[in-house]
Amino acid sequence: MPELPEVETVKNELMPHIIGRKLTDITFFWEGIVKQLSAAEFRSRLIGQEITGLDRHGKYLVFTLSGDHLMVMHLKMSGSLLVSQDSTEPPKYTRAIIHLDTGTRIIFRDPRKFGAMWLVDDRRTITDKLGPEPLEDNFTPAVLAQRLHHRKAPIKALLCDQSVIAGIGNMYADEALFAARIHPLRWGGSLSPEEIERLFQAIQQILRTAIANKGASIVNYYRPSGEPGTAHFEFKVAHGRGSTCPVHNIPIQRITVRNRGTYFCPKCQVET
Ligand SMILES: [Zn+2]
Repeated sequence: MPELPEVETVKNELMPHIIGRKLTDITFFWEGIVKQLSAAEFRSRLIGQEITGLDRHGKYLVFTLSGDHLMVMHLKMSGSLLVSQDSTEPPKYTRAIIHLDTGTRIIFRDPRKFGAMWLVDDRRTITDKLGPEPLEDNFTPAVLAQRLHHRKAPIKALLCDQSVIAGIGNMYADEALFAARIHPLRWGGSLSPEEIERLFQAIQQILRTAIANKGASIVNYYRPSGEPGTAHFEFKVAHGRGSTCPVHNIPIQRITVRNRGTYFCPKCQVET
């Protein structure tokens, strides 16, 4: 599933193709991708508008339009946004195509059909639900400590909770906990100040490295060019990568935490 580094990569690589461009049409191959409006209404409100900005909030992409609307997208489990410069047949699982005045098409491909598009008037519709952005200056060890204070849920679940921190999901939560040497079932509120500092450093380092590597292409994530990212080659435990701990050479364990497959090293990450 695309997480912060994947969505950030999509944003960075889409921008040169879309900023200042006018939307000339949207074709839907699966109208269920549009939430809260009919696909016809969505289309008629968007045609003719210019894209003036693109931002990421957590795992959401927010397109600023010249009218009063924001077009919001979420790639969910399996979505990709692909840039196409010609009019060749769209790939299998294409759910929508955005046509720009340059002739460029942005293809929303989504095998599992969880992806979503909305039209909103106010950015806070999205941002009010989200916790702090982990790579912004106002995210500090003190903020992380405050978000975890008294929380009795497993730290793994809290890291994946978008209202606690924005943008982290299953893969990067496992990687950050391994790097910080914290067991995924520890209660959030039980972490010591030293552990919170380690976790804070790990979150930032893991996410920055993954962005530099253009995201992780384990399943169904592609960059707008159609190329895969390479961040998963750096994974130590996520998805059981390599299946032994690179420190101890013992098998990586898999447990389920709140319905999510969770990978860790029982020696690096001792449950205390
Ligand atoms: Zn280990």
